[in-house]
Amino acid sequence: MTTQQPYLLTPGPITTTLSVKQAMLQDWGSWDGDFRAMTAELCRQLVALIEGDGSHVCVPMQGSGTFAVEATLATLVPRDGKLLILMNGAYGQRMGKIMEYLGREYVALDKGDFAPPRGEEVEAMLMADPAITHVAVVHCETSSGILNPVEEIAEVVARQERRLIIDSMSAFGAVEISARRVQFDALISSANKCFEGVPGFGFSLIRQAALEASIGNAHSLSMDLLDQWQYLMKTGQWRYTPPTHVVAAFLQALKEHAEEGGVAGRHARYQRNQQRLVSGMRQLGFETLLSDEWLSPIIITFFSPGHDNFAFQAFYDRMKARGFIIYPGKLTEAESFRLGCIGQLFDAQVDAVLAAVAEVLSEMEIPDGTPAHQIHAAATA
Ligand SMILES: *Cc1c(COP(=O)(O)O)cnc(C)c1O
Repeated sequence: MTTQQPYLLTPGPITTTLSVKQAMLQDWGSWDGDFRAMTAELCRQLVALIEGDGSHVCVPMQGSGTFAVEATLATLVPRDGKLLILMNGAYGQRMGKIMEYLGREYVALDKGDFAPPRGEEVEAMLMADPAITHVAVVHCETSSGILNPVEEIAEVVARQERRLIIDSMSAFGAVEISARRVQFDALISSANKCFEGVPGFGFSLIRQAALEASIGNAHSLSMDLLDQWQYLMKTGQWRYTPPTHVVAAFLQALKEHAEEGGVAGRHARYQRNQQRLVSGMRQLGFETLLSDEWLSPIIITFFSPGHDNFAFQAFYDRMKARGFIIYPGKLTEAESFRLGCIGQLFDAQVDAVLAAVAEVLSEMEIPDGTPAHQIHAAATA
């Protein structure tokens, strides 16, 4: 591990291992058999992680995670379909924006900055509006760090016979989900979050029957996941240039993910990071936005200290000088910042983060992290 580089306490890109970075030191021909085998292996492993063998297929998509979200919505929601988007933060809102670009119908259940969408209210909306064909939910809404109740939502969507699309960008790889127990048509994620790869592609794990039925849906050639998948099946190649080095790094990242104990092992480390971070920050007087029940092992929102000496940029700069890149908050109602738990972070790094926060507060002459006001996440009780 290179120690001079700052640690990224962000939700991706995150701090990767040296071995993942080293996997990029070779050039690959995208048409070559070796690279085609790498793509097939990547898809096989991802489908296996959701126990989707025989039901789901993996379609990789060049670009950042949003490209995969846009491609999935464009491919699966028919032009005359209607999407219900469960929003409680920036990523749900972004799906609404995508639907506007696509010119396809959608409605939103907007819970504001952080309150979770609940099964009951989703079911009521589905019963009231038979035109809704699909429901989209964000697994971990990275803007607040909340872990949304995806199982509860999947249950009502299935009962109402609609199709579920899960943006699991920042959760998949560290939060268990099985296609055998949770019914969904697509689960979307990317290389550079909980799998600890480098950025460059996303992927969608799609129910094969739904993908095969999506003919004519896509608005865009390069975003058509049906075409991407059919070409992949026929030739073993991605349509158009794949991010070869990123794929090589991702395979190394998958190997290290398996060595850590797969999803359960990674979840355990992230959960431990989260608990250590939260309890240490609380000892310094900080408060989390969310009650413990809704905290994800991915990223945590803390209220900013209420003291007059606090300024986010100064806090950020001083944390960076100590080797930690933190993340600004995204709440409309209160000042906040976020600390990520994912990537190559272990007890030693978490303890160093806590020591750095304590030092920075003392340098800024702020007695402790007590916030000015709390918009209590009691809404989530
Ligand atoms: C990171 C993320 C995305 C995709 O973001 P990109 O910047 O396009 O990679 C989408 N949804 C969620 C929940 C995310 O955390």
